[in-house]
Amino acid sequence: MTAAEVNETSGTTEAPEEPSITFDDLGLPENLLAAVKQLGFTKPSTIQERAIPELLKGSDITGIAQTGTGKTAAFGLPMLAALDPELRAVQALVLAPTRELAMQVAEAIETFASHVDGLEVLAVYGGSPYPPQIRALKTGVQVVVGTPGRVIDHLDRGTLDLSNIRFLVLDEADEMLRMGFAEDVERVFGEAPAERQVALFSATMPPQIRRVAQHHLKNPVEIAVARQSTTVTSVTQEYAIVPFRHKSGSLFRVLATSDADAAIVFCRTRGAAEEVGSALVERGISAATISGDVAQKDREKIVERLRSGQLDVLVATDVAARGLDVERIGLVVNFDIPGEPEAYVHRIGRTGRAGRSGRALSFVTPSERSKLKFIERTIRTSLTEIEIPSPADVSEHKVKKMLGSLETRIEAGRLAMYEKLITTYLEEHEAENITVAAALAAIAVGDSGPRARAEQEEYENQLAEDRRGRKNREERESRFSKDRPGRFDRDRHDRGDRGDRSSRDRGGRRDRDGDSGTRYRIAVGHKDGAEARGIVGALTNEGGLSGRDLGRIEIFGSFSLVDISANVDEDMMGRISRARVGGKALRIRLDDGPAPRSGGYDRDRGGDRGDRPRFDRDRHDRGGDRGYDRGERRGRNDWNDRSDRSSFKPRRGNR
Ligand code: ADP
Ligand code: MG
Repeated sequence: MTAAEVNETSGTTEAPEEPSITFDDLGLPENLLAAVKQLGFTKPSTIQERAIPELLKGSDITGIAQTGTGKTAAFGLPMLAALDPELRAVQALVLAPTRELAMQVAEAIETFASHVDGLEVLAVYGGSPYPPQIRALKTGVQVVVGTPGRVIDHLDRGTLDLSNIRFLVLDEADEMLRMGFAEDVERVFGEAPAERQVALFSATMPPQIRRVAQHHLKNPVEIAVARQSTTVTSVTQEYAIVPFRHKSGSLFRVLATSDADAAIVFCRTRGAAEEVGSALVERGISAATISGDVAQKDREKIVERLRSGQLDVLVATDVAARGLDVERIGLVVNFDIPGEPEAYVHRIGRTGRAGRSGRALSFVTPSERSKLKFIERTIRTSLTEIEIPSPADVSEHKVKKMLGSLETRIEAGRLAMYEKLITTYLEEHEAENITVAAALAAIAVGDSGPRARAEQEEYENQLAEDRRGRKNREERESRFSKDRPGRFDRDRHDRGDRGDRSSRDRGGRRDRDGDSGTRYRIAVGHKDGAEARGIVGALTNEGGLSGRDLGRIEIFGSFSLVDISANVDEDMMGRISRARVGGKALRIRLDDGPAPRSGGYDRDRGGDRGDRPRFDRDRHDRGGDRGYDRGERRGRNDWNDRSDRSSFKPRRGNR
């Protein structure tokens, strides 16, 4: 078997050839098969089917497989078969990148070994006390699962002896290298006996890992599986275009309308994760945040609470959530879409566990489309675009849930008092039953009418904006720079505006407040009878732009400002320029802001705001207090008015 036999089925179907190979066909001893049956594993996964026979034969292997493909059993079962439970010495060592993974693997191996008498498994990792580990090592555990750092500590202290090692596993090798454990891994290879079997697993096979394999493995059998159907096909993959400033509100609505038992929300940075986490808690969602920084003990507790149902939403960074295996997770939200397809696969692998179905939703800002495309190309799957639920959807969801529990409530009784109150009300007000019931439902779900909802939305958006505050300014600004193919893995601070001052930047105002694009100025204003819908119509029909490319539209007396996120080439500029609204040509050009010497756009009204900083970040938050004419502004993009918005996308063309 070679790497050439990569399963090219793109994870959409199970390798069809030999119908139903079972665990019994793999050559495993009875006591291990019994444990597998107890676990309810009926059919081996692809990596298990391929790796187990090779390892039982005594070969070294390299396994390229994503998270959730069942690697633990793929190496754990043959490893246990190779050990001597009578010999009380460490015979197998598994290296895993993080504490969580080490614990999970140790736990899984213990389960596999439940019918093997006298076999002990020990997990060693940083942050846990040494004495119990040292005691366990002295009494003679046979399997040690640990993080490289702690394993090296034990080697240094002389408390771990590798001279009886028969089986060595590197789990998630790429991640270990990424975390800087290369030297530690070398050291372990150096101290283990030459006569040992090695299984190396990695989601990717960068040159560094190939070299490790060449140096330390003997004629390894290469096993590569594409995406494992058990994980990926059971996960519905979706995305939604969400401007940065709407992410927080969108997340809330997604969670509020989700039927998943529990969810994980992925953020790119620790700071973002913490903010998102506290925003959710403020809105009454049972959420907690874990990042690489959270103390190990607390992390464990949080994961346990998630598992037991005390917690519904976990907000996490990639590192913190790696390998996390919690069955309750029915939804993964990528609050920030990851730059690397591998990270994406790892993230969505947190749902659809243990044969359940799951859903993964990625928020993509308009300027991140290329990232989405890159992921889709790499994983050879296209994601389905969805619309973010509206506030009305949230209410509907809540009411439906309430109606679902109505029968139970009626049966429970003790309704006389309510019946009496409502009867009296109906008589006194001559109100319709249905109207009263509907109003009660609306009140129960916190919907106090159209007006109030718009205000509430505005308020919540403001809150979210404030919360992000200064801390994230830098991040926010650099988000705005254009993605460059091939540079997805760069930290986004590297791509800040500094390095991206293209020619258009000189004149075009960039909207620092979101992803709504470059600011253009068109020569029609409300004196010409221009309205947002007419402008949208002209830009989409004549200009060939899609409604989604358009951000804010602000209409002034004799001109208007439009944010356009798409690339507007010369040809398009020409067509748009000639397009007419209210009988006047748009004559579009990059907006260069209020001219300082003339005192700003409101010159003829004697305004004095022309010297405002050009990139007045907060101008949208402060309503009229911006570099433009306060008095003239009105009717900004009415298609995106918050009071009746059902999605963040303007409807295509006119309404
Ligand atoms: P990986 O290490 O590749 O990420 P794991 O070994 O952690 O994957 O397995 C992922 C999940 O799939 C675990 O919940 C595990 O119990 C389950 N699993 C593994 N193999 C099978 C199988 N053959 N049948 C059903 N479930 C399995
Ligand atoms: Mg694993």
